[in-house]
Amino acid sequence: MDAVIALLPGDGIGPEVTAEARKALDAVAGRFGHAFEFRPYLIGGAALDAQGLPLPRETLKGCGDCDAVLFGAVGGPRWDKEAPDKRPERGLLSLRKALGLYANLRPATLLKPLREACPLKDALLEASSFDASPTFDMLILRELTGGIYFGSRGRKDDGRSAYDTESYSYREIERLLRVAFDAAAGRRGKLCVVDKANVLESSRLWREVAKDLEPGYPGVKLDFMYVDNCAMQLLRAPGQFDVIATSNLFGDILSDEASALTGSIGMLPSASLGEESLKGLGRMGLYEPIHGSAPDIAGQDKANPLGAILSAAMLLRYSLGLAEEAAAVESAVLRVLEEGYRSVDLATFATPHPRRAGTRKMGNLIAGRISRPAGD
Ligand code: NAD
Repeated sequence: MDAVIALLPGDGIGPEVTAEARKALDAVAGRFGHAFEFRPYLIGGAALDAQGLPLPRETLKGCGDCDAVLFGAVGGPRWDKEAPDKRPERGLLSLRKALGLYANLRPATLLKPLREACPLKDALLEASSFDASPTFDMLILRELTGGIYFGSRGRKDDGRSAYDTESYSYREIERLLRVAFDAAAGRRGKLCVVDKANVLESSRLWREVAKDLEPGYPGVKLDFMYVDNCAMQLLRAPGQFDVIATSNLFGDILSDEASALTGSIGMLPSASLGEESLKGLGRMGLYEPIHGSAPDIAGQDKANPLGAILSAAMLLRYSLGLAEEAAAVESAVLRVLEEGYRSVDLATFATPHPRRAGTRKMGNLIAGRISRPAGD
């Protein structure tokens, strides 16, 4: 297959982890006989420095012309004093909105070799686990182009009071929940809609929409949970969750919490999907690790590239329709962890003797395992 991938490394550790994700995709291309063309574009602080805008026009156009977007991270203290609409993060929010990427899929899975990096006791994990082993495997579906991140905001009373607005339309909720019901139907058949319906009117609309859609998905068991309870349940019984669907703000927070249970925020990939691709491959999508630009470790070969590499696997699966290739990337990641290699963030937990690996070494190991799968 020929595919064009927009590469948006961004700031901080973004360029470091996307370089390793690209290595994984190159290894896939080599093994399976595909031709992936990478087109680099500026975004975030890097774009602000070069062109005075966090999302230059050619970046937006370039992304629209590609089959998928591979994104690193944006932001950093250098740009913290920029006006709100010129901050690096605004570049990413605007890109998601402009490409219509409303559904953010964030799988949070405890991989077996990383059991020691999860802070929960066996008993807590086993009690809720779907297979009675100390593990969990959930998919958090976060609405990405609506809610409080895009609602009207401002200052009043000479700047001494401030407001942000949470607002959702039936249509925005419906399209996100359809992705969630479909995902649950293809997994263990459980969907939990997380909200604050005891207080927020917008949450009550989420519940109405979910109940309206429920009869169309007889194989899915629908539940509701308040977000404060969910934050607690993630820590005491994470295995109870299969698919969680929630708003932009709640999803942002809950997925960071879930990432801590997988060992490190550096582990979690994500896919942001819009409508079906017109090109017939899959959906237009943007793929990125859930972490930020981590300025504290940037440029030190300390970043965990696995979230970015697993994001590349999601790109193969969702935008290019290459399920076998995606699985090859995921099993290479698992194999490298089973062999005892650990990036710096995970090495502190490993016992007895982790094989420490920097960002580049981790990426090289995984690319190598993709090119030469076990048994070859
Ligand atoms: P962060 O995710 O960048 O870092 C939080 C902590 O996790 C830090 O200690 C960092 O070293 C660590 N960490 C993050 N990714 C890691 C990795 N791959 N390997 C090892 N350790 C990792 O969040 P933050 O510190 O709150 O934000 C830093 C900057 O990133 C801010 O400017 C913020 O706005 C931006 N940000 C961007 C995105 C994005 O681009 N999608 C997301 C979140 C934050």
